Amino acid sequence: MTVKAELPATPIEDMYRALPSVSELLQKEPIQSLLPSYAHAAVVHACRAALSEMRAEIAKGIPRDKLAARLDALPQIILNNLTEAPRYSLRPVVNATGVLLHTNLGRAPLSRKALEHAVEVACGYSNLEFDLDNGERDQRDVHVELLLLQLIARYGSGVTRETHRAIVVNNCAAATFLALHALAKGKEVVVSRGELVEIGGGFRVPEILQESGALIREVGTTNKTRAIDYEHAVTPNTALILRVHQSNFSMEGFVERPSLEDVVALGKRANIPVFEDHGTGLFVALDPHGIAGEPTLPASIRAGCDLVAASGDKLFGGPQCGILIGRKRLVDQIRKDPLFRTYRVDKLTYAALEATLHQYLAAATDEIPSLHMLGISADEIAQRCRHVCNRVENANLHTEFVETESAIGGGTTPKARLKSFAIALKHASHNANELLRTLRQLDPPVIARIEDGQVLLDLRTVEPERDDFLINALNRLSFSDSARGHLQA
Ligand SMILES: *Cc1c(COP(=O)(O)O)cnc(C)c1O
Repeated sequence: MTVKAELPATPIEDMYRALPSVSELLQKEPIQSLLPSYAHAAVVHACRAALSEMRAEIAKGIPRDKLAARLDALPQIILNNLTEAPRYSLRPVVNATGVLLHTNLGRAPLSRKALEHAVEVACGYSNLEFDLDNGERDQRDVHVELLLLQLIARYGSGVTRETHRAIVVNNCAAATFLALHALAKGKEVVVSRGELVEIGGGFRVPEILQESGALIREVGTTNKTRAIDYEHAVTPNTALILRVHQSNFSMEGFVERPSLEDVVALGKRANIPVFEDHGTGLFVALDPHGIAGEPTLPASIRAGCDLVAASGDKLFGGPQCGILIGRKRLVDQIRKDPLFRTYRVDKLTYAALEATLHQYLAAATDEIPSLHMLGISADEIAQRCRHVCNRVENANLHTEFVETESAIGGGTTPKARLKSFAIALKHASHNANELLRTLRQLDPPVIARIEDGQVLLDLRTVEPERDDFLINALNRLSFSDSARGHLQA
């Protein structure tokens, strides 16, 4: 071994030897002055990363005379790496699609209050499962259960904790599955053939039923199911009557479906609970926005539904979760299911949900972003579009504002449209797909849509604070070479 050490060093070995050690780097300015404000391990990690980059450069054959300058710059590089914000994969985007609950864009944005409460609760410890009165263990659902029941009572159904309970799981798919598993495993569930639907993202009612262990008892036909069909299907082994909200499609023509009241009435006669997969979680009717007939969750409870499952991040406008509200006996039974524990949600969700429920109870639903955007008038959007168009001065970009329609999305209200306005973009030398891609490369990325060969930016779903960003971005739009390669992407 000593033989090798005595050999004259090759130039490349000399270069490796010129590299400082981590402990030498830590003594150098400006690294040393970073030490009090950064975790020691993070600074060491940044030093190691920079050194290993230098080793790679030497291996690639950096000229000897360049090395000294690179070494001098090393502390500054380390400083930059440490202080630079990480480039996250999950990033905010500007939703200019006009789709309010865009499943690919995170569905309902959370309200400020919901976020602030989540930050406040999650930054430290909380009484998530702790009763502050008696110092004993408690259930995490207490933080939202009463509020949910109060909110339902507010909308016309006198539910109390004596009669009803509410629990929260990860999402509505989990809520539906869990309810079927806990209440109907090995027993029959009567469901209309017109409601054996696929909701999207792989949620298919027949598959969920099957996986839950319940036996599907299909009644009626795809287009027509009558109350009498349910009645004939009930046997001593029937555990539930399932009703699924046809939230993401509509049927026209020769169609019939009993009212929820009729289904509830026959459930009462047969002594079988009625479970509704409500989906949207809508609390406040959409009729004032010109969308008629979209059923609300409180209306289902008022109609006498025994158990209802809903999403937290659709028309409720809260965090992703699944809400189960129903008769005490049924919810207690679901809570006892061993699988309940596997769908448990985090303190972040409870905090955001609790704050959102308070906003509903304080009649401050306009602070809930998706509900607010739903209510913005087309005139107001037109004004913003005109303002943006007037301030874009880009010789290659033609902008005009056009009338369009926003959609609610998120697998809800398939036919509902809200009158809106959009900025239509046309570029002198780039087609609509290239433009769309270039908008996605902005920071934050702008997600738009193409209609009739034009790129449309529907401002209903764009926070007004972003308008100036849009103006700047459109004025300075530049196309990377890669945009060409994705003509049809
Ligand atoms: C959206 C929807 C679901 C799925 O809800 P997630 O919260 O996304 O799991 C289930 N059922 C109905 C009727 C729905 O509309």
